[in-house]
Amino acid sequence: MDTKEENIGGTAVKYFVVQRDDEESRHLTQLFHQLASERGMEHDNKNPDIVLSIGGDGTMLEAFQLYKHKLEKIAFVGLHTGHLGFFADWKRDEIHELVSMMASTALDSQTIVQYPIVEIELETKNGKENYLALNEFTLKGVDRTLVAQLYINDQMLEMFRGDGICISSPVGSTAYNKSLGGAILHPSIEALQIAEIASINNRVFRTIGSSLILPKHHHCDIFPREQQNLLVTIDHRSILRNDLISVRCIVSPKKVNFARLRPFPFWSRVREAFISFEIGN
Ligand code: NAP
Ligand code: MN
Repeated sequence: MDTKEENIGGTAVKYFVVQRDDEESRHLTQLFHQLASERGMEHDNKNPDIVLSIGGDGTMLEAFQLYKHKLEKIAFVGLHTGHLGFFADWKRDEIHELVSMMASTALDSQTIVQYPIVEIELETKNGKENYLALNEFTLKGVDRTLVAQLYINDQMLEMFRGDGICISSPVGSTAYNKSLGGAILHPSIEALQIAEIASINNRVFRTIGSSLILPKHHHCDIFPREQQNLLVTIDHRSILRNDLISVRCIVSPKKVNFARLRPFPFWSRVREAFISFEIGN
């Protein structure tokens, strides 16, 4: 095999693999390293061009969180083990094809798709902290219901009481948001979605009930009642906090790049993940 011909512009493609650490994902990772080195690709955890996730959607969330500081330089791609993943386009028996596509495809506007992500700023007495979420951010009460004022563009919308609030990206709209009855949003729509988690609605407490979709440049602020024990989740990670003054949520000016080495339209992905596994497979 002539590896030089495969490489883009003579420079080796640098890649890193994040894997789920089950037997199959470990085995496929080893095989991938072997095939990649035969193709002249370089394993590089510091400055990879492509980060490959081998496992489930949770593995892609981990890959994203590991490389969130280098989003503009990296394209993500997913190979799924176990059941079909939403972020993973490639199946285990397509690993040879995937390696050769990765080694021979130039990453440019034709082969990269960019998806909007959610940016969160937590304000505490000790300052501000910023986070990025690929799927969603949630705020939940721990020992009692969450009580919080919800503001949109500096105007109060409601006093929320309930289990929590979920703010998702378009690619995250098929995850937790979907279980909450939120809409599935095409990722070409630069927006975030606010969905309620078991809000309390009675003669005293009232929330809007529907999920809300905010465009780019709008912002949503959540002001939890003081000193509540809260659970903050960012994708698959969670932290307990009791020091939050407010949380600002926006559509991030940053985007995440996914390597689109072959077409797999979003609506086909939705159908295959939720309706029919067989069709088109
Ligand atoms: P997990 O418990 O394995 O995730 C729950 C399910 O969501 C899994 O089937 C996961 O796929 C799938 N998933 C993740 N991202 C998705 C996406 N963008 N579109 C469609 N399905 C998606 O935990 P995890 O793997 O660490 O993932 C964390 C995510 O779980 C959170 O970001 C949140 O969206 C989701 N979650 C959902 C609920 C709910 O629906 N009630 C509650 C809590 C959290 P894999 O099995 O391939 O990983
Ligand atoms: Mn998972």
